[in-house]
Amino acid sequence: MTWFKKREEEEKEGKEKRGELKISEDLWTKCNSCNEIIYRKVVERNFQVCPKCNYHFQIPARRRVEWFADPGSFLEFDAHLVSVDPLEFKDLKRYPHRIKESQEATGQKDAIICGEATIEGQPVMFGIFEFNFMGGSLGSVVGEKITRLIERAVEKGMGVVIFCASGGARMQEGILSLMQMAKTSAALAKLHEARRPYISVLTDPTTGGVSASIGMLGDVIIAEPKAMIGFAGPRVIKETIRAELPEGFQRAEYLLEHGMVDLIVERKDLRHTLASLLKMLTSDGQKK
Ligand SMILES: [Zn+2]
Repeated sequence: MTWFKKREEEEKEGKEKRGELKISEDLWTKCNSCNEIIYRKVVERNFQVCPKCNYHFQIPARRRVEWFADPGSFLEFDAHLVSVDPLEFKDLKRYPHRIKESQEATGQKDAIICGEATIEGQPVMFGIFEFNFMGGSLGSVVGEKITRLIERAVEKGMGVVIFCASGGARMQEGILSLMQMAKTSAALAKLHEARRPYISVLTDPTTGGVSASIGMLGDVIIAEPKAMIGFAGPRVIKETIRAELPEGFQRAEYLLEHGMVDLIVERKDLRHTLASLLKMLTSDGQKK
């Protein structure tokens, strides 16, 4: 390579590192945690985890089904449920318009996929939030699907695993959305009475009404590394209490240190961890 070509390459590399060059979305991706520009295929091969800093990227709910449920074992429930627009809510766009956009973008009717599956042979009622659907917000459809999932678990004497990824309650449904926190919590109380386990897996980000209900109500609460978990965001808290927040505030590692989560598990080990926990927590001979 001639010296001037080399220099062009070097300049390009430098620009990429400084974020000045538009990154080709198809080939490269930028890590949300360490800001490193990484070859997308490398991230994909690594379970969508940053090879530099171990940040776990958000992934579509369908892919989690493929990765965590045994092949061919997933039987989806209530996929047809669709939100109505009881408040005729409109901000920049009408609520039905936002729903339609999210449906087209994700191929889902709403922000959670629920079904029955096995994980390494362990039967489970499995729910996965889809963050790309209106920020994984908890509206009446999400609440209803989670409640039905838990009720089915009680009926069949099975455990429940829910992967959370959410910005919180869905403001377009006002109080109906907030009621889902109470509804899903009440269903979990029934599961507890039936002595069946509930494992919540908190992924980046889990905030607002979801962290304040089903997120933090797990018998075992697992987090993915570096996931942001909290109720209000750090900026809002900082502005309200007017104080510097401690380093690592609202990250999975900080929460583990302070007793708010039980385990941080890397994605590559998560399937086996879930299976082991389900086996341990449901093999008490009480299964119907
Ligand atoms: Zn990184």
